[in-house]
Amino acid sequence: MAAEETGREKETPEERKSFGQRLKGIPLHTQILVALLLGALTGPMLGQVAVAIKPLGNAFINLLVMVVVPLIMASLIIGTASLGDLRKLGRIGLKTVTFYLLATAIAVGLGLGAGLLLGPGKGMDESVKDQIVSQYAEDATSRVDQAIAQREKSSIGEFIVRIIPRNPFKAMADTDFLGIIFFALLFGITMTLLEERQRKPLLDVLQGVNDVMIMMVKLVMKVAPIGVFALIASQAAEFGYGMLLTLLKYVSIAIGTMVLFTVTVYPIVLRSIGVSPVLFFKRFYEVFIFAFTTSSSNATLPLNLQVSEEDLGVSKEVASFVLPLGATINMNGTAIYQGVSVIFIAQVAGLTLGVMDLLTVIVMATLASIGAAGVPGIGMITLTLVLTQLGIPLEWIAFVVGVERILDMTRTAVNVTGDTVCAMLVAKTEGELAVPAKDTW
Ligand code: ASP
Repeated sequence: MAAEETGREKETPEERKSFGQRLKGIPLHTQILVALLLGALTGPMLGQVAVAIKPLGNAFINLLVMVVVPLIMASLIIGTASLGDLRKLGRIGLKTVTFYLLATAIAVGLGLGAGLLLGPGKGMDESVKDQIVSQYAEDATSRVDQAIAQREKSSIGEFIVRIIPRNPFKAMADTDFLGIIFFALLFGITMTLLEERQRKPLLDVLQGVNDVMIMMVKLVMKVAPIGVFALIASQAAEFGYGMLLTLLKYVSIAIGTMVLFTVTVYPIVLRSIGVSPVLFFKRFYEVFIFAFTTSSSNATLPLNLQVSEEDLGVSKEVASFVLPLGATINMNGTAIYQGVSVIFIAQVAGLTLGVMDLLTVIVMATLASIGAAGVPGIGMITLTLVLTQLGIPLEWIAFVVGVERILDMTRTAVNVTGDTVCAMLVAKTEGELAVPAKDTW
């Protein structure tokens, strides 16, 4: 039927494109950002509908976490087996751990400083305190129980033993990165002792697994906008905005300090290796948004590996070692959160912390972050470990439970950025940072 007969104007080829085709023209990171904003705006209006679509978001996270273990195993074994130089491995390990510990300690210090300077818990009304305690006491108690279980895992002796997995398959089943890394490194090193004819077929298989996993991440990312929308909309619907207003000063100081850290410390490191921070964030922001949305360094790992290697020029060897390690032991955002939160809780409780207490917080928060996995909500659990050390009753975490999610999202984005900045620094010092196509650093 001609267009005139139906009364419609003739369509241009552009107009004839289907919705799907038009969507394809929009870069994925823009689609994810739009999904995030739409979810945040419409979530509270959609109410129960938003909560009902939460499983879509969780399914998306599961799809990504599913890729993590085989991807890390394969890429770390390939990296180590082709390294052929144990000294290099030791060097990379030392640089990585030094960066992570230093950055985390500086981050806690900054959090404490901001808290002391700006007083997030000063001048809170007694009636507001009572309201918060009665509203969140139950939630706080269940977190305290989790913390007690976690504390057993966090002693230094237990930590060293835990790095060596008795059963590597269990380590994989539990996504225990430290155990997985230990086994994969040893596996790769042992492979170098085999003859070439024994090693080669295994390496080919692992390379195949690695390639399939990377392709799988790319496929899964195609549904990222739907997953991100579902996650954010349901969180926005469930979020207590009233509590956000009550604790606005604390939340603003915590987020403000994380932003400050991100726009000062990381750019200084990047500049020192000749990388433009603006270009870095332009290429990295998809990962940043993703970490923010999922609140999980672990779930963000496959995407981070892909972006670091393909867009940021980090070599596979360095990325597959530094990033999984960072997802577990490097938590700069969490460290800042702990610094600000300890001061906030102490102020609300009417306690004064001395210099020794502050030093204890720096050491404890840094150590606690090493043993904690990159999953949602773990930062609050490790906060209770720090509070215990100071002798502050754990029930006081009731004061931070109500705004936990938004702070968890922010600190995860900072945590993941720190991992990638470290990977770039290590790659540069090893002569393994390529200049990505089209741009110069
Ligand atoms: N969710 C954070 C992460 O995955 C950890 C935390 O709770 O602070 O990095």
